Amino acid sequence: MKADPSVASFQVEFHRQPSGVRVAFRGFINESTQLPINHRDLAFPLDIDLSGVTLINSMGLRTWMLFIVDVSKRGPVTLHRVPEVMVRQFCMVAGSHGGAVVRSVLAPYRCDACGAASTQELTIGVDVVPATYSKPPPRKPCARCAAPSSFDDIADAFFSFTLATP
Ligand SMILES: [Zn+2]
Repeated sequence: MKADPSVASFQVEFHRQPSGVRVAFRGFINESTQLPINHRDLAFPLDIDLSGVTLINSMGLRTWMLFIVDVSKRGPVTLHRVPEVMVRQFCMVAGSHGGAVVRSVLAPYRCDACGAASTQELTIGVDVVPATYSKPPPRKPCARCAAPSSFDDIADAFFSFTLATP
């Protein structure tokens, strides 16, 4: 039997926590991605780490929304380390994170001194406040040279989804 590479490349890992479960998604979300909507290890509160998601296409967004809308109705769900590819979808498509709370995102940064590009985890409510989301988020130290590194996108667009966060 030949494995479908798009399915084979997507992985879900479950980790039990003192309270609830943390799952990590890795790979490309498309129409054939199997998200663990009825998985026997699913428990609440549910933390979902999305940092490993590399790409999501329009059919994948439908797959994702069926999952997150359903799961977030069943108990508290928090999204962690949401990558840029998913932040873009959350900004463009209303309701695309269902009833889940977005705790943190992975934002593009560029060093003011050496120009190195990096990804910084920004916590919603701390680094980015929904009421003032259009202001650039704080500078972070560059991983290469430790000089201040600045957010490298348009805050007004990148963080617009925070207004819809429950
Ligand atoms: Zn630098």
